Amino acid sequence: MKLSYSSVSTYRNCPRSYQFSYIEWLPTLPKPALSFGQSIHAALADFYREIKELEEKVNSSYHNSSSNTLSLPLFTPPSAKRLLHYFWLNWSSDGYHDKEEEKEKYLEGKKILQVYYEENKNSFKAPLAIEERFEIQFDGFLLTGVIDRVDETPEGLEIIDYKTGQFVPDEKELRADLQLPIYHLAAEKKWNSRPHRLTLYFLNPFNKKNPDEKHHRRYSFSLEDDEVKKVEETLYETLKSIEKDLKDKKEKGKDLEARPNKFCNWCDFKIICPEKSDKSQVEIDEIFAKFKKYKALKKEREKIENELRKLEKDLSS
Ligand code: SF4
Repeated sequence: MKLSYSSVSTYRNCPRSYQFSYIEWLPTLPKPALSFGQSIHAALADFYREIKELEEKVNSSYHNSSSNTLSLPLFTPPSAKRLLHYFWLNWSSDGYHDKEEEKEKYLEGKKILQVYYEENKNSFKAPLAIEERFEIQFDGFLLTGVIDRVDETPEGLEIIDYKTGQFVPDEKELRADLQLPIYHLAAEKKWNSRPHRLTLYFLNPFNKKNPDEKHHRRYSFSLEDDEVKKVEETLYETLKSIEKDLKDKKEKGKDLEARPNKFCNWCDFKIICPEKSDKSQVEIDEIFAKFKKYKALKKEREKIENELRKLEKDLSS
């Protein structure tokens, strides 16, 4: 059975939202927070790809030269303007209610990246991996995911995950989350090296909870052997539970449990949720059908847009 990290995470928050997303395959609606996060992630990924290319070029010209010096030459990292350029290139307008809101978020993103640049400008170096996809075998399951960045440090690998939202969980919640521990397992299998550090990089310095916060927050930790074992046990229990629920759904038509949690207000399926919706069954069925129609139309639009792009390319060449 193949499962992505994000589906496992969804299930752990609420099995019914997992059902809506990964069994019924209902679409999620475009949202400013989602587009914003994707634009920032893509800008950082492109920026680090450029760093990687530059460093490789400098190193290969050093190895091809007849220089006698032992130390590798330094490379000049791209400017902050490049990072902002990548942000502009990757900007997505999806989900914003109006131009005003979009402009506000765009400026906020620029500020975030400028602060990020300032904070890191003396330590830019090529990462080992950028937006690295993984697929690992785990006790009969195939687990997939994408790691934002992996750095090589003198002590070992550092797994980095960027967070663009303003919600910063407390330490207890951060330690209980399975995301980085799963990445830890994936990195260990992929690079045959135990990660030394797992880092959550909260990029948004304008935290509403803490308006005086001027810098990004880096929350780093490492996992001891007993903690890795615990993660593996928790993960295995979760995967077995998903497997059982899927079987019950398929064989008995049993719906998965709706488990209200702190993310319900942002849940796309609140309107059809048995715990949260105040609609009648007839209304819920109608809304469900609209979700399906929305998905089909979106797919059709993507197809038309792709065809248009292809025709534009053919006609302009
Ligand atoms: S609204 Fe809450 S309880 Fe209902 S499906 Fe969404 S996350 Fe689950």
